[in-house]
Amino acid sequence: MKNECGWIALAGSSPVRDHLKGVEKTDWLIIGAGITGLSAAHSLAQLHPQARIVIVDRQRAAQGASARNSGYAVAHENPADDELIGNSGFAGYAVDSTIGQAAADEVRMRIAHHGIDCEYRDSGYYFAVNDPGKLTQVEAKLKTLQAVGASAHFLEGAQLAQTLGTRHYQAAIWCGNGNALLQPAKYVKGLLDALPANVNLLENTDISGLERLSGGRIRASGSQGSIEAAQVLVCLNAFIPRAGIDTGATFPMELSASLTRPLTDKEYEAIGSVEPWGVLSTRPLGATVRFTPDRRVMIRNTAEYRTRDLSNRDLLQRRKHHVLGLQRRFPGLDEQDIAYTWTGHLSASRSGQPYFAKVEEGIYAVAGCNGSGVARGTLWGRLLAELASGASSALLQSVITRAKPGWLPPRPFFDIGAVLRMRMEAVRAKTEI
Ligand SMILES: Cc1cc2nc3c(=O)[nH]c(=O)nc-3n(C[C@H](O)[C@H](O)[C@H](O)COP(=O)(O)OP(=O)(O)OC[C@H]3O[C@@H](n4cnc5c(N)ncnc54)[C@H](O)[C@@H]3O)c2cc1C
Repeated sequence: MKNECGWIALAGSSPVRDHLKGVEKTDWLIIGAGITGLSAAHSLAQLHPQARIVIVDRQRAAQGASARNSGYAVAHENPADDELIGNSGFAGYAVDSTIGQAAADEVRMRIAHHGIDCEYRDSGYYFAVNDPGKLTQVEAKLKTLQAVGASAHFLEGAQLAQTLGTRHYQAAIWCGNGNALLQPAKYVKGLLDALPANVNLLENTDISGLERLSGGRIRASGSQGSIEAAQVLVCLNAFIPRAGIDTGATFPMELSASLTRPLTDKEYEAIGSVEPWGVLSTRPLGATVRFTPDRRVMIRNTAEYRTRDLSNRDLLQRRKHHVLGLQRRFPGLDEQDIAYTWTGHLSASRSGQPYFAKVEEGIYAVAGCNGSGVARGTLWGRLLAELASGASSALLQSVITRAKPGWLPPRPFFDIGAVLRMRMEAVRAKTEI
């Protein structure tokens, strides 16, 4: 079966750019043209209007995870039990919410500034469950969310079913004031199409390593040439090892999703002509589901630690899992109603915090989005550009202070532990897929 991202297909593509040939020289090099790299490119171009800036991607720009995600711009995460108000983790959760709110604001500002049409809806989304036992401490969660500036309220039963057009969910917290939904491929394509003239994008340019030249400049090598730069920003997320950077703390995950055809008028009326919505699970391996403005259903209900890409046969199996999740929510939909199925890669860490650092003189990197890189990647791109430019701010300091991704055991111990943990999480999420 074809691994085709529905968001990308519906967004249309930008003109193809050149690939790297021979030796290029530049002031700034950004590796990775996803949300983070493109946001960094915009900020660098603004900070250094006279500088030469090159951004490269190993495939077409803006077509990696940044276009393949579920489109949640996360300001406020669902607080874990130890993060509830009064508990030891609350202070950290409050700082993360301030960062998350700034990240969501950054998305909103980029969209407004560049006039990006990406179906952006600033109307929050739901942390919803099928098994009410998976949404505990509701009062404390509402208080916690409200204490960090979110709007939040609880819904259940008929009211929830009428709002979402499905009886699958039994309880939910709606959370707004920052949390938003968008069409991810349109958003990142908008950042790409708006690149200023002093940014040169090279596509299909795979960087395989960085080396220091005498005189301090850095050479990035690709299969058909190399780029020499004074400063390099590495925005590769799951692929950071490809630039020869070992964070020692982040690991890759592969997720898969499907998007249906639009519901017919009759089907839409049958579910109560509901407004577009988004649901996040309270369990890490539960389903993320959206009802889109063009009346399609998107479901992402697999996430796995993998060291090799899913084969097409494996993807077919994952699609069966998507169908199962779809039918639990909308029994009328079946496999033939799925228009697109795809995979994407993200980078996770043990603590849930990113790697965000000056790696060495002239090299800066970020990875470990932990599934929240739409908003945070937009912010990190700007902040990485500011850090590399010698700027400082309270927000940048907060991000640096919180960027402690945690220690990972060496392989193969990590591989074994990760597979076992994922199996355990899959069992815990059984009612929520
Ligand atoms: C299915 C799925 C659902 C998700 N849902 C959400 C969500 O709802 N909300 C949210 O906030 N986040 C979500 N995420 C995570 C989100 O997509 C990422 O956090 C975000 O895309 C990170 O952006 P980035 O620019 O840092 O990395 P990427 O988008 O991964 O960009 C890195 C780029 O580097 C390029 N590259 C790789 N290797 C090389 C190389 N050697 N040389 C040059 N270029 C290279 C890649 O082609 C890619 O374009 C999801 C991810 C997936 C996969």
